[in-house]
Amino acid sequence: MAYLALYRAWRPQRFKEVVGQEKTVTALRNAIKEGRLTHAYLFSGPRGTGKTSIAKIIAKAVNCENIGEGEPCNVCSSCIDINNGNFMDVIEIDAASNRGIDEIRDLREKVRVLPAQGKKKVYIIDEVHMLTTEAFNALLKTLEEPPDSVIFILATTESQKIPDTIRSRCQSYNFRRLTGPEILERLQQVATSDNIELDKEAGQLIARRANGGLRDALSTLDQIYSYKGKTIKKEDVLDVLGLVDELFLARLLEKILGQDTAGIIEMLSTALGEGKEAQQLARETALYLRDLLLYMVMGDETEFLVVTAAAKPLLEEQKSKIDRNQLLQALRLMMDTADKLRISEGNRFILEVAFLQMAQIFSSETPVVQPTRQEARTTRVQAGSKRKPDAREVLWNHLLAGVKEKKIPTHALLSQGKLLGARDDVLYIGYKKGYRFHKERMEEKDNRELVEAVARDILKRNVEIEFVFLDDEQYNDI
Ligand SMILES: [Zn+2]
Repeated sequence: MAYLALYRAWRPQRFKEVVGQEKTVTALRNAIKEGRLTHAYLFSGPRGTGKTSIAKIIAKAVNCENIGEGEPCNVCSSCIDINNGNFMDVIEIDAASNRGIDEIRDLREKVRVLPAQGKKKVYIIDEVHMLTTEAFNALLKTLEEPPDSVIFILATTESQKIPDTIRSRCQSYNFRRLTGPEILERLQQVATSDNIELDKEAGQLIARRANGGLRDALSTLDQIYSYKGKTIKKEDVLDVLGLVDELFLARLLEKILGQDTAGIIEMLSTALGEGKEAQQLARETALYLRDLLLYMVMGDETEFLVVTAAAKPLLEEQKSKIDRNQLLQALRLMMDTADKLRISEGNRFILEVAFLQMAQIFSSETPVVQPTRQEARTTRVQAGSKRKPDAREVLWNHLLAGVKEKKIPTHALLSQGKLLGARDDVLYIGYKKGYRFHKERMEEKDNRELVEAVARDILKRNVEIEFVFLDDEQYNDI
């Protein structure tokens, strides 16, 4: 099924079609009505919030042949040419693509030439923070003495990178992220007119994931439509975006809070088996924890990213069981884990161990307080004091406990070693040079198989164990 290119089709053509940004729209429209437009504007704000759309509307309004109430007519030849990108006096420069060196040089040469086709030349420079210093300097020279017939509209997602010398010569407008309901309303409007049956929960889910950007929301709708067709339900959104159902996440957190190690590993295994990506799982878990944290702090005022009505009772219940500091710590852990998984994609161990580690965080009776950097520098962590459990340590402790239950002598041999890490389906356990005896005993079939069986119990799949000497350096950073 083909894409509908909803974003392009639904790009606002006049001020009254812009979603959100009411103050900016009113101010600009009044300035046009009263002929008070200035020479340079700086639009800053997140992606997909309407910066270049509004820039285009201004370009049309100043060149339109039948402007009315500050709105372009969209039917005169100027408006039509601008809409089609064929108008010589509206020049769009994307600073992100080649950092603008040639374009700005060209701009300096041509900026004083009168408009060829319309009344005003409009330069729209997108992602202007990407310009090189040279290009910025050239632009600054032009902004210092702007010709009457030129309007500059600079757009950026990172306004802090714009030099003050440039900023002070522009009138600035901040574009805000759109709210969930604003995006949802537009999604439903688009769906209705394109004969797409968009379930309300599906729409909410898309709106939440767009993080305030309408463009992203519309491309997501487009993407889901191209896979699933004209009827879109919540499951379709979850499926196409590879998202994890929030009820699944709520149940997973139940297992974590209940210290149900086997249950945790089993649920992860199910999700991975259904084709979810490890990184996505970590990300979704982080978002769920974030929702929970916001809910604890703000109650019903919260705009959820993940949780829909169905999972709210669970959230309410979990709220009362959880310590806020532990939750923060778990959230940080999951965000770090998602980062790690982006680099070493598909490493299941990283995911599994992170979840075991999270269970450990929630198991401590008093919240674990991490030392600040200052404290960490000046004081040693005292023996026996609580600290954040290390990921390997968590898995190692589970392994040791499992082996101890089955065979004390093997446990005695194993406990002199150290879990170095994992690669593919192999766990590496290291011994110091003086422990050759221990290492060799552990390499014997019975002992090795016992540890492998315990590891299989914990991780719910086959793993191999390899014993190495600790100063075999290549194993030290697995
Ligand atoms: Zn017009």
